[in-house]
Amino acid sequence: MSEHARSGEKILRGIAVSGGVCRGKILLLSKAREAVPRLQISEPGLPLEIQRLEQALTRTRQQLLEVQRKVNEAMGAKDASIFDAHLLVLEDPTLIDEVTRVIQQQKINAEYAFQQVAEKYGATLSAMDDEYLRERAADMRDVTSRVLDNLLGRTDETDLGRLEEPCIIISYDLSPSTTALLDRKKVLGFGTDVGSKTSHTAIMARSLQIPAVVGLHDASKQLKTGQYVLLDGYNGLVVLSPTDQTLFEYGQLVRKQVNLQEKLQDIRDEPAISLDGVRVTLSANIEQAADAENVRACGAEGVGLFRTEYLYLNRETLPTEEEQFQAYRKVAAALKPHPVLIRTLDLGGDKFISHLWMPQELNPFLGWRAIRFCLQERDIFRAQLRAILRAAVEGNIKMMYPMISGLDELTQANALLEECKQQLQAEKIPFGEILEIGAMIEIPSAVLTADSLAKRVKFFSIGTNDLIQYSLAVDRLNEKIAHLYEPTHPAIVRLIRATIEAGQRNGIWVGVCGEMAGDPTMVPLLLGMGVDELSVAVSAVPQIKFLIRRLKISEARELAEFALNCESGSEILARSQALAQRIAPGLFENQN
Ligand code: PEP
Ligand code: MG
Repeated sequence: MSEHARSGEKILRGIAVSGGVCRGKILLLSKAREAVPRLQISEPGLPLEIQRLEQALTRTRQQLLEVQRKVNEAMGAKDASIFDAHLLVLEDPTLIDEVTRVIQQQKINAEYAFQQVAEKYGATLSAMDDEYLRERAADMRDVTSRVLDNLLGRTDETDLGRLEEPCIIISYDLSPSTTALLDRKKVLGFGTDVGSKTSHTAIMARSLQIPAVVGLHDASKQLKTGQYVLLDGYNGLVVLSPTDQTLFEYGQLVRKQVNLQEKLQDIRDEPAISLDGVRVTLSANIEQAADAENVRACGAEGVGLFRTEYLYLNRETLPTEEEQFQAYRKVAAALKPHPVLIRTLDLGGDKFISHLWMPQELNPFLGWRAIRFCLQERDIFRAQLRAILRAAVEGNIKMMYPMISGLDELTQANALLEECKQQLQAEKIPFGEILEIGAMIEIPSAVLTADSLAKRVKFFSIGTNDLIQYSLAVDRLNEKIAHLYEPTHPAIVRLIRATIEAGQRNGIWVGVCGEMAGDPTMVPLLLGMGVDELSVAVSAVPQIKFLIRRLKISEARELAEFALNCESGSEILARSQALAQRIAPGLFENQN
């Protein structure tokens, strides 16, 4: 396989985020969300603009009715009625009259006029004191983007559920919630202009095992629907019009991967034990209850991170306590006696629900997210805590709070948990004692106060995805600074070690559930520093087990010793790579 373009083909380079190779025709979803163009229209052209506006409104109405019908079928009339508000926005005569007036008076194109007027309405609604009216601003945003998609000829993301033939999606961006809906039989792979390895879109792609490349810069401008490409999710390449030689080389690579998978399958039921006899707990990260089956199949020992947010996404109402109870119960029962570690709701950052009033923030990752959101939206949090407590009757459930920045949040969350237990007791509803409550360590302030936290929890789980972004001040979504997102930065190595030491001093176990744990290069370093548990994407479990079984912890400790005394992130990386590649070369054969 060559990284150099052969004559006739063109290579676009991005960031490899989900392994695998696929080839097929492109479906271009959305181009860069560049500003909607303002075009001057001559007098005779104005009726056409008004006609385009009317057509876009009609098309949007049809799409919304279709979504409403589906939601009605799947979830009932109450959920479906939410779309009535969207439909009302579309039919609002004041809005439509004003857009028409702007087109005629300013002699401009329909999309620009519509955006201008809709933004003005949205801003007015957002500033209202009345909560009901503020919520209408979210409806306004939703409808505006659908109408603009239709005017600009962008494929509606909801059309993804109706794909007729297999394709490779190219898009400026994909949200984690849209990614979660991709049909694996129809979507062979996807590439986006923006994004990085630890975005939740990338994490979801790995979870669904869809090959993906992000950070492709302006791929959505360069590529067109219907063009034939090969997408290499191992090396982060999209090859336009690949030559026969390139296709042949990729065919060989795929065969090698199939052989490797078979080899990994042989050790599926073996323990994750190092060559010198150290037992490591290897668990899986899941995003939905249905993933429980895959956890057993991949050879993990239970779930080390259940990202519960996806239960709340792609729907128009909040999941009820009962619904959540059923989901958690199902996973706990399927994996019993193995543990299932449920992380409480981590909304915000790059995961939003439009029907809840979650204002657009300038810095969403530093904003109203995770435990901060839950401690304010207590009814939502209570429903989840009660559901988890009730599900704990069915299996080995542990629970942890995301984004803990210090003791106060932990104390408040535990107090609410106690309150929920008392309520359930009073209502005579059975619930299980969750034996272990843990804290995620993903903010530097949590590391610096880890001793206080460790005295009040049974375990720590290090969320390296966020710990790295917050410590190095590198937005985990931004491809322009992806090179600065450095897991082996000496500061990160020391923060991880400090967390482990605090855990050891207080007699609690310490795991890692960020993407670093699923990277074979990083595993010796983490284990050498004393991590007890690794929780990784289902697709990464077999290779991480393979690597652990070829590792001597004594060597890993030497690597960690070196790293803790080293001043250079790239030197730590080079040593880590050298060790991992020496003990498990087969895992690295797919890389250029
Ligand atoms: C993390 O931050 O490492 C983590 C596991 O949480 P998430 O990726 O869901 O933010
Ligand atoms: Mg996190």
